[in-house]
Amino acid sequence: MLSSDHPLITSLYILASVLFIVGLKMLNRAATARRGNLISGVGMLAAIVATCLLKGISFQWILLGAIVGSAIGAVASYSVKMTAMPEMVGLFNGFGGLASMLVAWAEFHKWRGLGWEAYLRTLGAGAPDSSLFTAVAAVFTAIVGAVTFSGSVVAFLKLAEWITGRPILFRGQRLLNGAIVLATLAAAAAVVVQRPTGGAAYAAFGAVMTLGLVLGVTSVIPIGGADMPVVISLLNSYSGVAAAAAGFIILNNGLIVAGSLVGASGLILTNIMCKAMNRSLANVLFSGFGAVETASSSAVQGEVKPVSVEDAYYILEAARSVVFVPGYGMAVAQAQHVVRELGQLLEKNGAEVKYCIHPVAGRMPGHMNVLLAEASVPYEQLVEPGDVNPVIDTVDVAIVIGANDVVNPAAREDRTSPLWGMPIINVDQARTCIVLKRSMRPGFAGVENPLFFKPNTRMLFGDAKASISALVAEFKSE
Ligand code: NDP
Repeated sequence: MLSSDHPLITSLYILASVLFIVGLKMLNRAATARRGNLISGVGMLAAIVATCLLKGISFQWILLGAIVGSAIGAVASYSVKMTAMPEMVGLFNGFGGLASMLVAWAEFHKWRGLGWEAYLRTLGAGAPDSSLFTAVAAVFTAIVGAVTFSGSVVAFLKLAEWITGRPILFRGQRLLNGAIVLATLAAAAAVVVQRPTGGAAYAAFGAVMTLGLVLGVTSVIPIGGADMPVVISLLNSYSGVAAAAAGFIILNNGLIVAGSLVGASGLILTNIMCKAMNRSLANVLFSGFGAVETASSSAVQGEVKPVSVEDAYYILEAARSVVFVPGYGMAVAQAQHVVRELGQLLEKNGAEVKYCIHPVAGRMPGHMNVLLAEASVPYEQLVEPGDVNPVIDTVDVAIVIGANDVVNPAAREDRTSPLWGMPIINVDQARTCIVLKRSMRPGFAGVENPLFFKPNTRMLFGDAKASISALVAEFKSE
């Protein structure tokens, strides 16, 4: 067994870090993403091997954890429906935070039992002889890990629609949140001042974890459904920050690098999501926006015009340019393969076909990209709202497949809407817009959609896969 500063351990951790970075870079493009994932996996293997070679590792606990964890993970992955993937991913984020919090707790416990000098020796050669540094790292990890865990559980419940997606607001909420933050910092200061050996230190550490858990709940419940993409990516970033901080307690370079990468990429994603919604991070976190009632969009005017599959076929058959706009409903219907088939038939019929993906479409970042890549939609046909919107009035048909919030013109037209200001795909300005959904129910943000009442909109009601399959059959029968 080797000490943590042994050249082999250092080399393996450096190798793992390089593979993580290369793998992450390759995830940037659909063509290289699979290989990137594999390369990152090899990096993780190198990190695991390095950790298993360390002195003082108790394999029986690792083995037990691996068996229990793998069993739960395997059952969960097999039983979860594809459409529940986003909330599952959100929950996994939370478990990352929980793991970091538990590492902080375990190290605190060990330090308390051994005393600083003996505990320092367990950290290995080269450990900085600073109990202040380790105590700060421990409370920081505990707070961020706890907030990540309970915040992710609330996000999970909102995504799974087990609790309302609307902001949960009450009087004095900000005051309460401010008080919790102050109390958490006071408890953290008490831990740092006393270190684990002080009389009340254990109680203070318990308070840090408990208050962190409460803070995660109280800071996510006021955030409305439409803003959840930002919350999910921010919690993802927090889970990385918590892991990196845990790496500073146990002085594990692999954990510090991997955690920092997750933290930084989560922050970049948060920034992308904020831009996609035209909101600042502070505005998303503190405004409780979206609390307005659905009735605020009562100015919706016009009449809904349902269309039959046959009539929709005639419209598409005559189209020279078609833009598909997928949304969460495409994931529910698992319609991506038939969408691709229809796209090919339209191309054969002489139309130019594009797939326009809104960054917050679906229920997790990149949701639509993953589905369309799975159906082998050519990467060159994927475009962004910024590419389509300037020329949308020249598009013959925009087909909206189970998208709702990301095509809701209320974002442009209704100042009282929770979606106000969010850049949308302006399908209402295409020559004809065909919307595929099952009913008139609103999308995730719970806001009525004036698009359905516009004169150039036709509603093709029904399950998206069934409707598209029927359109494919019409094309094939010609
Ligand atoms: P929406 O949730 O706004 O709308 C989805 C639509 O799909 C519904 O109106 C529903 O209508 C329809 N639908 C559901 N099942 C089917 C089916 N089988 N066949 C046909 N239609 C179906 O989706 P969008 O993608 O437009 O917007 C995403 C929303 O989710 C945004 O509000 C975003 O902020 C939020 N969000 C996004 C996250 C992300 O990271 N991307 C994370 C968390 C939230 P009906 O029931 O009538 O069929």
